[in-house]
Amino acid sequence: MFSYRHAFHAGNHADVLKHITLLIGLNLLQRKETGIALIDTHAGAGIYNLESEYATKSAEAIEGILRLASYCNENPDGIPDGVKAYFKEISHLNQHQTKSIKTYPGSSQLMLQAMRVQDQLKLMELHTTDYPSLVENMTVSQGEYRPKKSVQMFQKDGFTQLKAFLPPPTRRGLCLIDPSYENKDDYQFVLTALKDAIKRFATGAYFVWYPILQRRDATELPHQLAEFCKDHHLPYLQAELQIKSQILTEGLAASGMWIINPPWQLQEQLEICLPFLVKALGQDDYSRYELTAHD
Ligand code: SAM
Repeated sequence: MFSYRHAFHAGNHADVLKHITLLIGLNLLQRKETGIALIDTHAGAGIYNLESEYATKSAEAIEGILRLASYCNENPDGIPDGVKAYFKEISHLNQHQTKSIKTYPGSSQLMLQAMRVQDQLKLMELHTTDYPSLVENMTVSQGEYRPKKSVQMFQKDGFTQLKAFLPPPTRRGLCLIDPSYENKDDYQFVLTALKDAIKRFATGAYFVWYPILQRRDATELPHQLAEFCKDHHLPYLQAELQIKSQILTEGLAASGMWIINPPWQLQEQLEICLPFLVKALGQDDYSRYELTAHD
């Protein structure tokens, strides 16, 4: 079993980019009444305690959600709607906190909170410790937020399981593919999972998170995704956020979201959010964002 535990990284800058993009996309899709299948192939534990031993050891939230929160507190004017909506979801888990954010919702918890009765949520998590935590967290949250919602969890390989849910009965779907890339084969597994998924459900919205690292497989992935989209005539958006120099950093300085069949107006909303995130989270002259759209 892999050693990666998302609890070490919860609320870092990559989570901020990923979760803001995910929530904006979901909210845009929900403008239509028809139910949506929400699929999280790598769900994690769902909820993270930012004061746990894991989170305090790496302290990654300090460069992510906690930095963004204090920037927004100091600069309350001009916070983009997409960032406000993200904080609104986070506040549900932090109602008893006076100021700081102590509990951070992962992608599965965010989707659970944001889903409607007509939506369905399917979560995959393989880890022997994180899967029971996910089940426990989602069961408590489901009782609190979404008693009548359809949520299914599976301790299965998200890459191979994805296609089993496609196409969704309503022909509307949002799939988050968010591996840790600890297993180097994950780069290829992402492409294979997408190929299988697109064969069955070419109109789904696919949100893929990827790390920006100076390693060959990592640098190749965006090129392979671009080629894949071109070959299959799929529109996409590529959103990247870098918060500091990669050369001087031991950990992750930048990451990206690759969105296939992006919901209408996601690009416009990210055009407002990304420069704001650079201002809020950027630590040096290497901080940057990039947003590329292809039809
Ligand atoms: N999506 C989560 C979020 O945003 O809150 C974080 C997910 S974390 C980056 C990746 C997760 O995938 C880890 O919890 C890991 O245990 C799990 N995992 C690793 N390989 C997997 C696989 N093949 N299928 C499903 N889950 C897997």
